[in-house]
Amino acid sequence: MRAEIISVGTELLLGQIVDTNAAYLAQRLAEIGVDVHFKQTVGDNATRVEEALRLAMSRADVVLMTGGLGPTEDDLTVAAVAATLGLELVYDETVADHIRRFFETRGRVPSSTVYKQALVPRGAHVIPNDRGTAPGVHIEHRGRTIFIMPGVPYEMKGMMENYVLPALRDRTGLTVIRSRVLRITGEGESAIEERIKDLLQQTEPTIAPYAKLGEVHLRLTAKGAPEEVDAALARGEAQVRERLGDLVYGIDEQTLEEVVAQALIAKNLTLAVAESCTGGLISYRLTNIPGSSTYFLEGVVAYSNEAKIRDVGVDPTLIATHGAVSAEVAEAMAGAIRRRSGAAVGLGVTGIAGPAGGNPDKPVGLVYLALAGAGGTMHRRLTFGAEAGRQGIRVLAAQAGLNLLRLHLTRA
Ligand code: ATP
Ligand code: MG
Repeated sequence: MRAEIISVGTELLLGQIVDTNAAYLAQRLAEIGVDVHFKQTVGDNATRVEEALRLAMSRADVVLMTGGLGPTEDDLTVAAVAATLGLELVYDETVADHIRRFFETRGRVPSSTVYKQALVPRGAHVIPNDRGTAPGVHIEHRGRTIFIMPGVPYEMKGMMENYVLPALRDRTGLTVIRSRVLRITGEGESAIEERIKDLLQQTEPTIAPYAKLGEVHLRLTAKGAPEEVDAALARGEAQVRERLGDLVYGIDEQTLEEVVAQALIAKNLTLAVAESCTGGLISYRLTNIPGSSTYFLEGVVAYSNEAKIRDVGVDPTLIATHGAVSAEVAEAMAGAIRRRSGAAVGLGVTGIAGPAGGNPDKPVGLVYLALAGAGGTMHRRLTFGAEAGRQGIRVLAAQAGLNLLRLHLTRA
């Protein structure tokens, strides 16, 4: 079943309000397996509303319209729909009653124009509006279904939940669309795509990659009966995990720092971080998580050489011999912060975020990460390339630092 959404309102075309109705409707339709191929936005103009409806009816089975149901001059959606379908408008006593009672219970007197809302196309079903005065309209016409709902989001949602969705669900049977996101870090988008190229061609589930800074998300989507959909998603996840192994760090909303936190908690380990080029980003991300005090002991931003010596405890001769951006200094930062804090694991980061300060030996984007733990100290040398930009390099370095921690904690 194919649906089309038509949002009516000149203020939408002027950009004065954002069309949140269409987004909401599209989401709810997707959840019950109704495909939306087109959305239209049209102003408060009878001729153009008719034109939009005719186009929608030429290519969709169900048309959902919102806006322009009110009592004022510019509210013309119902009249325009009736004109398009060649239906006469008739006065609906039940709706008029509802309007009368709506005003009575609120101690207000309706203006005469309010009763314009009681005019509905002949043969149409009235969709009750328990949140306002304008009724919705449901029309079955030559194999097409049209739902007209108010523009006010709260009223529209009430009708969608209580009337339109149940009506559509009855027709689609139990079809659902579900997605699962596999979150990957540690390799670039093209390298990942290369490894799962054939999987990207398949359906049930479909697999679509989305590149983010420092990570790639694979969205798996399947459509069908609920059990089939869940089985397809599990199958797709297993296929991806088989190819990518521990490049997959999490699913759905899980963040990398959450995974690191869970691993630290599971192993009952504590962490201290000494950061230079990342300026505290790693500490920031780890301490964003509620309860981080159970595993995060401290984070030092040691930017200058003096700070690395004084606040972290790096041996000054190491800096003099190898330079502040070096494997030796990164390892010394990790080891020293671990000792000073008494943490089980120390992480050190030093690098050149640029744009200035690079040279052929140590280009902008060069980052050293080091880990110190009970089993000893290790480092990684990474080059992100100047084109990532200062912010990009910092974000990528923080991401790589957290990922190094994750792999250390989950492999060991
Ligand atoms: P009313 O009875 O209030 O006149 P209506 O059905 O005529 O309702 P509109 O006049 O089109 O609806 O819109 C009323 C208000 O609802 C708008 O001012 C706007 O704030 C909101 N609205 C309308 N359409 C949308 C939309 N597509 N997305 C989000 N909000 C909307
Ligand atoms: Mg209005």
